[in-house]
Amino acid sequence: MADFDYDLFVIGAGSGGVRAARMAAGFGARVAIAEDRYLGGTCVNVGCVPKKLYVYASQYGKDFVDARGFGWQSEVPAFDWTTLRDNKRTEIARLNAVYDRVLDVAGAQLIDGRASIVDPHTVVVNGSRYTADKLLIATGGWPHVPAIPGAELAVTSNEIFDLHAFPERIVVVGGGYIAVEFAGIFNGLGAQTTQLYRGPLFLRGFDDDIRENAAREITASGVDLRFETNVMALEQTAGGLAVELTDGSRLEADAVLYATGRKPHLQGLGLENTGVTLNARGEIDVDDEFRTAEPSIFALGDVIGGMELTPVALAEGMSFARRQFGGPDQQVDYEFIPTAVFCQPNIGTVGFTETDARERFGAITLYKSSFRPMKHTISGRQEQTFMKMIVDDATDRVVGVHMVGPDAGEIIQGIAIAMRAGATKAVFDSTIGIHPTAAEEFVTMREPWTGD
Ligand code: FAD
Ligand code: NDP
Repeated sequence: MADFDYDLFVIGAGSGGVRAARMAAGFGARVAIAEDRYLGGTCVNVGCVPKKLYVYASQYGKDFVDARGFGWQSEVPAFDWTTLRDNKRTEIARLNAVYDRVLDVAGAQLIDGRASIVDPHTVVVNGSRYTADKLLIATGGWPHVPAIPGAELAVTSNEIFDLHAFPERIVVVGGGYIAVEFAGIFNGLGAQTTQLYRGPLFLRGFDDDIRENAAREITASGVDLRFETNVMALEQTAGGLAVELTDGSRLEADAVLYATGRKPHLQGLGLENTGVTLNARGEIDVDDEFRTAEPSIFALGDVIGGMELTPVALAEGMSFARRQFGGPDQQVDYEFIPTAVFCQPNIGTVGFTETDARERFGAITLYKSSFRPMKHTISGRQEQTFMKMIVDDATDRVVGVHMVGPDAGEIIQGIAIAMRAGATKAVFDSTIGIHPTAAEEFVTMREPWTGD
């Protein structure tokens, strides 16, 4: 090991790479980490963080309107995109500096540039060669735009946060997390927003009741949500972009956001110089300690697929560092990972969908509740909150909890702890609620749902 420059060379300073580098250095390893774009990776620069800031921004318009029912007489003020965008840039620059400091304090050496693997123990960055006992690939994902005529006119989540001008008319293509969140953001900020999804119902993989309730609320909030519709071609026009649709119609827009999935970021990485193998989706194959088919090379985070979420990449980074560099061994447990879609209202979910629970457990009992949030009894808004709980009959264990409603992400985080602890429906029932909240509904769902 002493013959190598480092014990560990990490490629990519995003969520997973930074966590692995910091912890490995903390265990005494000699660590280098290369980053070619931005410290903190996708989440900090073009993902979770700026997205959540823009979600906050987008909620004010609705709040100004809702406040009228509570006696506030003001008009809705004008929104200024430049202020939001530039304040976001300042905050992200602050976070980039925090990441720089964190790596420095941990003793990991940051190397600025794009890394390429030349053999199983050697990496080249900006023409310099570095050797390490172990290499860790944590290069994340990259937006994928299908090849349609005019695809180069579209923007992706990489560019959307920094648009020069606010798009008064936006078309969002896709029906996953990013498309749903950005349709909500631009709709809330006042853009005329159209969201197109190619299938019969968006948010594939979520519980069907959640998909239907979210579609209803998103449409009610003002998004022109169209299913079974895709884009044939994009064309530049004098007034913006012409969007030709599969149903033969045409839309005019100032921006078209493609949110049609992400692919592992492997370009120029030099995997051909190694024995690393990929699965059918192009993700790196790893075993349960994140080791690839090349014994000295490891990979984690979005580049190995699975649930592409920051807390998952962080957990994988910690597990890797512990197992390889001497901390307490802890394998990542992928059961009951909670997740939220920050559309308006939020979706929060943990555990099995109804369909998957039936397949896994057989006999299940469902609890459902739909109600108007207390705030909207006076605001006048016709928004509904929906909650659903799925119980395995054999054990009484709660195996799925799903919600569409304000702060669903915040609420489901707590529920996930109970579920990981194995809470039964009886435990939920014996828990005293916090009144008046929406979350108390989860401990007062007494009557099983028996059908519409
Ligand atoms: P990344 O964070 O993508 O980091 C990879 C890093 O590697 C990048 O900085 C890249 O520049 C660098 N890199 C790549 N190739 C090289 C190379 N050859 N040499 C040097 N450096 C290289 N997750 C959530 O949990 N909650 C959310 O709310 C959320 N919102 C999101 C919103 C958007 C718009 C997007 C796109 C993603 C969002 N995610 C969210 C997902 C989350 O950002 C990712 O799951 C997470 O960032 C994955 O971490 P990672 O370490 O695998 O990769
Ligand atoms: P997703 O995989 O979630 O969604 C991609 C969407 O694009 C799907 O609706 C898919 O349709 C559609 N699509 C794929 N190909 C085409 C095509 N050729 N034409 C039209 N539509 C197409 O990817 P995202 O890009 O939304 O997000 C990537 C990942 O990032 C997420 O899966 C999530 O893990 C993470 N993320 C997490 C967030 C959070 O935690 N809040 C927020 C944002 C991202 P179909 O379903 O029919 O395949």
